[in-house]
Amino acid sequence: MFNLVIFGAPGSGKGTQSQKLIDRYGLTHISTGDVLRAQIAAGTELGKIADSYISKGQLIPDDLMVDILAQEVDRLRPQASGFIFDGFPRTIPQAEALKKMLEERGEEVHSVIGLEVADEELMERLIKRGIDSGRSDDNPETIGKRLKVYHSTTSPLRDYYTKEGKYQAIHGSGHVDEIFSRISDAIDSHPAMKKA
Ligand code: AMP
Repeated sequence: MFNLVIFGAPGSGKGTQSQKLIDRYGLTHISTGDVLRAQIAAGTELGKIADSYISKGQLIPDDLMVDILAQEVDRLRPQASGFIFDGFPRTIPQAEALKKMLEERGEEVHSVIGLEVADEELMERLIKRGIDSGRSDDNPETIGKRLKVYHSTTSPLRDYYTKEGKYQAIHGSGHVDEIFSRISDAIDSHPAMKKA
């Protein structure tokens, strides 16, 4: 298996680039945001809890998020040749839980692709996405809160994965295909990918 985390602030292009990664590498995509939005749309208990955090631009508590992720991994693992984790981990405890969970299954995170985009550009992209897609958390007030949470709580993962020798920084501005070619160069040069 080749497992990667696609990492970056809200609006950095994780979802768009994940789609291209699925097409190129046949990896299985787990987007925790998509999982939560599906629960909200289905009106489940979990969806109600998730909505109470998402609508405020806050993170869902780690314990709950880790359980959701483990369930997704176990559901999809039989047919997966590797995972793209999109939107997870978002905190240091989540990264530690992911490491442990994968270790217990004889797996590991091989690479963390970090999409680096300036805040002003993120804000512009998210406001546009809110208009195009109608995503309720893409409004200026909630976007501001999500970017704050990203800087305070999620961005320390950059150091965490750099220390683990796994972080690959990618310049996340420019044309979608140009960014994808930077990402695929980083993946193709990864020793675990060369072996696969
Ligand atoms: P996303 O689609 O990844 O931007 O996620 C949308 C929202 O879902 C986030 O703003 C959080 O409220 C929630 N969420 C998604 N993934 C996580 C996670 N790993 N930990 C906590 N909350 C999450």
